[in-house]
Amino acid sequence: MVQNVTSNDFFPMNIRLTHLLNLPGVAVESCHSSQDSVSFQLRVLTKGTYCPHCRNYTEELHQTRPILVRDVPVDSKEVYLKLPRRQFYCRVCQRYITERLQFIDWRRRYTQRYEENIYTQVNRFNIEQISQQQHLGVEQVKNIFNHINQKRKKQHLELSEKRYSYEKYGKNNKKLSP
Ligand SMILES: [Zn+2]
Repeated sequence: MVQNVTSNDFFPMNIRLTHLLNLPGVAVESCHSSQDSVSFQLRVLTKGTYCPHCRNYTEELHQTRPILVRDVPVDSKEVYLKLPRRQFYCRVCQRYITERLQFIDWRRRYTQRYEENIYTQVNRFNIEQISQQQHLGVEQVKNIFNHINQKRKKQHLELSEKRYSYEKYGKNNKKLSP
């Protein structure tokens, strides 16, 4: 991976917050706290991204849009991340590509750890309780639950397919004698 990390021109306080937030590839630029929520302005550390179609590395930034992503609560305060959604241009396949961040699933507005957290809670409490506690709509809670549920089913399926091919063909992918 090319790590084009830009200069460390942020304050020591932001370095500490970045460390506490513990999300890969991003740094805290600023932080705003109110009575019941905290929001972090983040920046992405890499200058470019890899094209998902041809694996070409590109730094040709086409446009940036701000997005707001919900993260796990801190001290019972709601946490929001303000992030840039960056679109690059790949010269090899002449396509515009939207950057994917490791800790957010494609097109989701929650971090993976927040969705996992909600999923675990749904298994313990009822959806209305979580909806009230998190200030999320009942449909949003259901949507998060279904998303994680689907993801787990898919991962489970992939794992059992791998195991099946291992048992059938052996470690070196050669067909075992009957
Ligand atoms: Zn490409």
